[in-house]
Parts: sequence; structure tokens; C-alpha cells
Amino acid sequence: MESHIAIFPTPGMGHLIPLVEFAKKLIQKHNFTVTFFIPTDGFLSNASKSFLENPTPRIEYVVLPPANIDDLSEDVKIETRIALTVIRSLSSLRDAVKSFVSTKNFVAFVVDLFGTDAFEVANEFEISPYIFYPSTAMCLSLFLNLSKLDESVSCEYRDMSEKVRIPGCMPIHGSDLLQPVQDRKNDAYKWVLHHSKRHRMAEGIVLNSFKELEPGAIEYLQEPETGKPPVYCIGPLIRMGSVSENNEGSVCSKWLDEQPSGSVLYISFGSGGTLSHQQITEIAFGLEMSEQRFLWVLRSPSDTIANATYFSTQNSCDPLASLPQGFLDRTKGRGLVVPLWAPQAQILSHGSTGGFLSHCGWNSTLESVVNGIPLIAWPLYAEQRMNAVMLTEDMKVALRPIFNENGLVTRFEIAKIVKNLMEGEEGKGIQSRMKDLKDAAAKVLSDNGSSTKSLTELATKWKSKLVFK
Ligand code: UDP
Repeated sequence: MESHIAIFPTPGMGHLIPLVEFAKKLIQKHNFTVTFFIPTDGFLSNASKSFLENPTPRIEYVVLPPANIDDLSEDVKIETRIALTVIRSLSSLRDAVKSFVSTKNFVAFVVDLFGTDAFEVANEFEISPYIFYPSTAMCLSLFLNLSKLDESVSCEYRDMSEKVRIPGCMPIHGSDLLQPVQDRKNDAYKWVLHHSKRHRMAEGIVLNSFKELEPGAIEYLQEPETGKPPVYCIGPLIRMGSVSENNEGSVCSKWLDEQPSGSVLYISFGSGGTLSHQQITEIAFGLEMSEQRFLWVLRSPSDTIANATYFSTQNSCDPLASLPQGFLDRTKGRGLVVPLWAPQAQILSHGSTGGFLSHCGWNSTLESVVNGIPLIAWPLYAEQRMNAVMLTEDMKVALRPIFNENGLVTRFEIAKIVKNLMEGEEGKGIQSRMKDLKDAAAKVLSDNGSSTKSLTELATKWKSKLVFK
């Protein structure tokens, strides 16, 4: 019987996409088979559906019966919603795993950062528990040390007079830490703390990063320390852009084919990001004023929540209706606006793309690094502010727009920063540093590269657990 891996992705495309890529690597390079056990709260976004409907040899997807979270209020934070979806899916997960154990030789049970409650099921069936961490080494270092920080600091982290010292990382303002730790009374904080403590229960942690990108944090993570699981740096693991996902795919690539090399700014706020109506208007006018080419993935505005489409990736109105009147005509030929969802991996690997205005989700960041695309960092939620600080102040591969006193980035600021990235001196420096990271990424992924070796080490360990039934 082949060595089989169970993967339990918590809701969100930013978790599912890298886990599927991880599974593909295990299959292609190390001959594993994989079953995904997918928890939902009754709703699978179109993006996840089309993803799951795309069959991948040797991967099986089992969508678990929906967890009932009707008792949660509308404004509950995503981390709470994810954590409760996981807890309320455990009994169906147990049943599903049970139905597989007699025919599959499970050697590892992999969850992501909010899935550690599923270790309970892994342990019941004596399957080794692992974490796939889909974010930065910096954030993982914080997770492994959050309970210490929690004990030593009594105020809100944002009110600390000193910067927070995360082991291995540059000091960071408390207000730049991940969003769910910004209100310690909120349940979202309790859930993050809960899962962060349980990270030490894993037999190992697989990290989607690499040493040249985050040297200090990775050095810390790899120092032996009692209770700290071994960390396998296997990144950058990204979705490759060769396959067109849908009609938008061919529309985008056809349009990009007609643009000069490196001339297009791609704008996207990830799978869940939304902006206010006023902010969309400012971006539109700013893009017009910049006179640069652009490809913009647009969602309908949400005036209150920055991650309004995290669970659905679509909202009901026509996003194009939120653009200023005449904008599409005035920018015709120079700009393309794609509603809701675009084949990002394909766009970032296209030779015409020369810049990326991004919410700094970690997958988007890695996709930019692999393709050597310089960034404008515009974080919205989750750990994106931490990523933005690292990208601008530490790695210096991104520009960061300035918000005015009303929390808006004005059209003038947008025009200035876009021009600066696409044709200014600062943009050139950023481009050159991004090119170095691109080369470093290619090297770690080569046959003898550190990420390839790390994956082989993990695969060998897992295969040694194979018991013939
Ligand atoms: N993505 C995409 N098309 C879109 C928006 C997002 O293909 O229109 C993909 C993107 O390439 C990335 C993932 O969705 O792989 C988003 O993950 P990320 O960590 O960047 O952000 P999140 O959505 O989790 O905030």
C-alpha cells in the first residue's frame, strides 16, 4: 500500500491553494497519495469549487458535511468563524477518516495554522500530526511565542511603548501585529492564542518560506529548543500560472499579450479583500492620473469590512458599477478591469506584468517573488501589516502608500506611487532587489536547493512510518 497523507485545510483560498500545491509536490516528487478532508460552514465559494472540480491525479477531495454556525453574529471575526467551523466539523472528520483507515496507509495528518484542533482526530487514529504554515517565518515565530507575550504584556499590544521583539525578526510596532491580536478581549484573539499554543504539539511544521527571504526568523526557528517542533522550509511553493482557470484567464492573457513588456501594474487585494466606495473612486482617478497600464481585479465596495468576501470571493452587486462614470472608456486599451476573480498566477508570470499593488497576503507575496515583480504594499487584514512592514522596511522590495487623516489613500498619492514603482528611480532599486529574490527562490527550488532537500527529508521521514497492512 502507498504512503498516504491526510490534509485538513481550514476555510480560505489562501490556505487551500498552497496546501494543494504542497500535495502536488508530494505526489510528483515522492509518490505519495493524498486525501483532503475539507470543512465548510455550508458555503463553498465559486473559486474553491472550480479549484476542487479541477481533478488532480492521486488527490481525492472529501467535502465534509457543513458545520452549523448559524448562532454566530454577522460581524463575527473570520478567525472565530474558521475556528468554530473546525471544531464543529470534528465528528464528521472522525467518521470520514474512519472510513478510510482500513484501506489507506496514513503516514501524516497535515493541518494549517487554524486547524490544530483536528490533531485530536489524528491522535485517535495514531497518525502523526503536522502543520503546514501558509504564512511567514516571522508570523510563525510570533505564534510559537505568543503565549509568552500574552503573559508578559497586560495592555493591548498596540499601546505598548516599545516595539515587540519577535525572536529572529526586526522589532515591530504592536499596531502592526496581525489583526486578530489587536483586540485581546475579542474571541478572535482567544482562538489565535489557542491555536498558537497547540503549534508545539505538532511533530513538525512545514513552512512556505526560505532562508534567503527571512534569514533571521528561519535561523531562530531552526535552533533546537525544547518543545519547538522541527521546521521544514520548503517554499516558495506557489500555484504555477500555466493553466487557464476560466474565461477570465483567456481574456486577461490575450489583453496582456498586447501590452509592452513589464508595463502593466496588476492590482488585487487577494481572495477576500474589499475597499470602501470612496477608496475605489480614488484608486480609479489615481490610475487615470498615473497614465500607467493596469489590470485591476475589482470587488464591489464594502464600507465597513476589509475582508467582506473572504468566505465567498463574490458579492452580489456588479463591481464595475462602483467605478466613476466614464472610467472604463477613458482608460480603454490602457487598462483592464476584471470583476471578482482573475487568474493571478498566470498574470504575475506574464512578461507584460511589471508591478503588483497587493494586499500582501503571503501567497500573493510569494507569487510576486517567484516572478520578480516589485510591489506596492497595501495591507488590509490578517497578518498583512506584518508582511508589509517586512517587505518595505526589511527586504525593501515594496513601496507603501501614505493614508490621509481620513484613512484614505488619495488619487494624488496613488498616481505618485504607481508612477514611482513603474518608472521611477525608487522602482528600479526595488525591481533589482526583487530580481535577486527571484534568483534566490529559483536556487532553493532547484534539484540541490535547500527547499528541495527539506521536502525530501520530510518525505523520507514520513515514508519511514509506513506500516504494511
Ligand atoms: N487569487 C487569484 N485570483 C484572485 C485573487 C486571489 O488567483 O482574483 C489567488 C492568489 O493567486 C493567491 C490566493 O488567491 O494564491 C490568495 O492568497 P493570499 O495569501 O495572497 O491572500 P488571502 O486571499 O489569503 O488574503
